[in-house]
Amino acid sequence: MGTSGAAALEAKKTTITPKAVIYQKYGSRASYEVEEVHESVQNGCPGLYIPQKGPCLYQCRLNLPELSILSGTFKKKKDAEQAAAEMAIQKLGIHPLVHSPNVHDAGEELVTRIAYLFSNEFLASQHPLSGHFKATLRREGDLYGCVPVSVIAVYDGKISNLCKLIDPKAESNPCLVISFVLQAAATLPTLITATEGQLWIRRENPYPPEVMEPLLVEQSCTLGSVCVQALLIPSSLHEDIKPVTLDVSSSTYYLDVIAQKLGLLDASKILVSRPIGKASSETRLYFVGSDSLFVEPSSDLNGKKPDIFEGSMNARASYLAGQEVYGGAILASIGYTWKSKDLFHEDVFLKSYYRMLIYKTPSGPYKLSRESTIAAELPVVFTIKSNWRGSFPREILCTFCRQHRLSEPVFNISRYPGKALSDLSGSQKKLKVTELTEDPGPTSENAANHGDDETVESVSNFRCEVKVLSKLQDLILQCSPKDSCRKETDCIQNASLKVLSWLSSYFQDFNMPLEELNSLADALDIKFNPSHLFKEFKFCSTMYPNQQRIIKANNCVDVPQATGEHENYLLRVEGPESGICPSNGSLACICYSACLVMEAGHTKELIESAHEFEFEMGARAVNPHVETAVAQMSVGQSAFLLVDLPSQELILAAANDSARALSLINSNICRLEYCITLLKVTEPLEDRMEQALFSPPLSKQRVEYAVEHIKKSDATTLVDFGCGSGSLLESLLDYPTSLRKIVGVDLSLKSLSRAAKVLHSKLSKSLDGDVPCRGIQSATLYDGSIIVFDSRMCGFDIGTCLEVIEHMEEDQASLFGDLVLSSFRPSVLIVSTPNYEYNVILQKSDLPSQEEVPEGKGQSESCRFRNHDHKFEWTREQFSSWARNLASRHDYSVEFSGVGGSADREPGFASQIALFRRLPWRDECVRDEEPVHHYNIIWEWSNGKTSKSD
Ligand code: SAH
Ligand code: MG
Repeated sequence: MGTSGAAALEAKKTTITPKAVIYQKYGSRASYEVEEVHESVQNGCPGLYIPQKGPCLYQCRLNLPELSILSGTFKKKKDAEQAAAEMAIQKLGIHPLVHSPNVHDAGEELVTRIAYLFSNEFLASQHPLSGHFKATLRREGDLYGCVPVSVIAVYDGKISNLCKLIDPKAESNPCLVISFVLQAAATLPTLITATEGQLWIRRENPYPPEVMEPLLVEQSCTLGSVCVQALLIPSSLHEDIKPVTLDVSSSTYYLDVIAQKLGLLDASKILVSRPIGKASSETRLYFVGSDSLFVEPSSDLNGKKPDIFEGSMNARASYLAGQEVYGGAILASIGYTWKSKDLFHEDVFLKSYYRMLIYKTPSGPYKLSRESTIAAELPVVFTIKSNWRGSFPREILCTFCRQHRLSEPVFNISRYPGKALSDLSGSQKKLKVTELTEDPGPTSENAANHGDDETVESVSNFRCEVKVLSKLQDLILQCSPKDSCRKETDCIQNASLKVLSWLSSYFQDFNMPLEELNSLADALDIKFNPSHLFKEFKFCSTMYPNQQRIIKANNCVDVPQATGEHENYLLRVEGPESGICPSNGSLACICYSACLVMEAGHTKELIESAHEFEFEMGARAVNPHVETAVAQMSVGQSAFLLVDLPSQELILAAANDSARALSLINSNICRLEYCITLLKVTEPLEDRMEQALFSPPLSKQRVEYAVEHIKKSDATTLVDFGCGSGSLLESLLDYPTSLRKIVGVDLSLKSLSRAAKVLHSKLSKSLDGDVPCRGIQSATLYDGSIIVFDSRMCGFDIGTCLEVIEHMEEDQASLFGDLVLSSFRPSVLIVSTPNYEYNVILQKSDLPSQEEVPEGKGQSESCRFRNHDHKFEWTREQFSSWARNLASRHDYSVEFSGVGGSADREPGFASQIALFRRLPWRDECVRDEEPVHHYNIIWEWSNGKTSKSD
């Protein structure tokens, strides 16, 4: 065993972790201490009290009797632990691969474990396996108390781990596991094992009455029988999958019932697969282990399978289970669980089978997570995270690899200083926020950008390379996108999506010529190894025979332009034009149904529908025909769309009545009809519009408005309520003003750290150079909510609050107004917020070809909010009544203005602004109470020194 071949070593390496090796040697004498590491922020800014989220890092100390070792820093605790273990292994020269003594130990442990499983104690415990033990004690006759061996191996994790330790091949060979368990059981005198044509183990002596009694009580409580729907998957592909009913009464063992459906008398020879689909699922395949597999279980396992099986390999079942299944198999969702004493069971219908099959395709998990197998398609681009619906690409790719018994995909991320993005503001520089990777490159610098959170440019670029490897670590494919992303997660999603897209094309046509596969791969920055690819997916082509059909519709590289001339495509749009149409990048919300219809139109079968289904236009997140139809519709309109059938698997994964769906599909004159209503269109994000439609961008115009006002005043103190990333405070530093003290408040720590860094770098320059902001003596950033009082906000010359109130609920906005004007009482307060009435213009400009928006319903529907985070957007009327009300209550005057557009032309400014001034006859209230501090200082700068106080 110690001299097993390289392949075994390989397998060993992947199954035993460094921690496991340490555990084998030291057991509980090894202890791990994990600590969070607070990396000092080198290029951030001194004085910043927020621990920098270069995501929280961990370090692990491993204490062993002979030494103690400290790992490097990692993002995940478990990685730090493994690294420490790995270091210890190297230092101490432990050879995990010379494992003969471990094999011996594992063998002994296996015996101990089996002895425990047949103990009184285990029977009384709640364990998925003890349910089986109890059930066998309800059997009558010879098989009383006989537990099938395969069950022991499948439902006890410890047993299966020990078997893998004895021989890694046990992972993929259930017969090997069974033979190990039998061998171990045979050494226990208290047990009886059967091997002749049957495979079970039972106790020599019966369980004592005090153990049995509670079981009988339990049983009488759960008396009654259940009927569970399951499927019989014949081994021949020509035979249909048939529904079967498992009739399980409280006095029968469910495995016996399954065995009978497979033509056996009892469960002794039934093999149970691993769970299918999600790891937590109880859906498994049950099949018959043939005698010849067990006769000499320890004989040459690498040798040829006995001939009798060659004809009866069950391709469908094997594919589902990811292991070899012979003969007919039952697919059922039934079993004992950790959670409940009772037998868990769920019906498995033909639809469930097809959903499992679809789940194994590269786009399946996406379609299923969207609850739309027919209409939804895996998008071809990962634009922005907030527009993505359904499972994320990385997760889908990991699922795919797991489903196909491949290694977990390997992601390699590289970071490099980004080249300056479009420079919006001239000379300002921004410092990098987090520094996390091996790349020790120079501090990256970038042009600053103003605006809401979503658009603040982070400064460095990331690239991600993905590798997909077989279980034996053969490289199947590698994707190295040339494009980079500003966010680490985006580049991972992006690369994962490319891999999925390519695999998806392959799954749609397994006979695609190599040339074509290559050119698709090139376009997606993918390189693949054909022989490894074909080897790993050799089964799949039998499973998805009908996929080619949809390729015609799906595989064009550009967004398909449906035209009337397409013979297989019919579209009829109904209802009045509202003028509100989706454009690329916007989110369309539709209500749809998809029906199978006979040519004549009188037979219809609904297969899928959704009341609200939202998707990003231009990303091909839905069937291309549907997307093209929606692009021609306006809000409120409905469309009828007739297209060719998608693949049979997809239809059967959606249809509730499989039999009826099948008969319609097979009639050959059947097509698919979509009925679609366009409910709503959400424009691309506020900022994108603001940038596209205003020059300079609206956010910049707002800041400039405030700066102009401040320059003209003789204010020496300023507080920016809801300062965000500090766009206003930063701009102020570019001009000579009379300001001495500036303050910002926000409750987003992320934005505040950005603000701190920007201000820090600018203010430090004020020390040596002749820069405009040299007059500033102190700057402070607070973490706090502007609807909460803090005495340090009182008595400023100017308060600003730009595009903040609409991010709160309306009553909070009023609360803020009252608090500021009654308690903080700045001499001047500037408040800006979007003008709701202007949204019509934003939308129209986006779609220049639209006709005038009609009055009434259409109008109101056209005015959505500009940003997903907005809680409201006010008309001029609403804003002015809010502001006038406040002003009169607190003795301020108010005047209105704005930026973007003009006051004289309908519908007014794009951003409306209220300018409050404290009336001279009511002076600032002098507060002499105790100072009240509800805000936390996040960063402060005072005349060149940053002071820290924890
Ligand atoms: N004034 C900035 C940011 C506007 S975005 C600019 O013009 O660029 C809105 C900001 O309001 C966000 O940073 C958000 O964190 C902040 N905000 C929302 N509710 C808040 C509250 N109750 N207290 C403090 N800040 C708040
Ligand atoms: Mg806003």
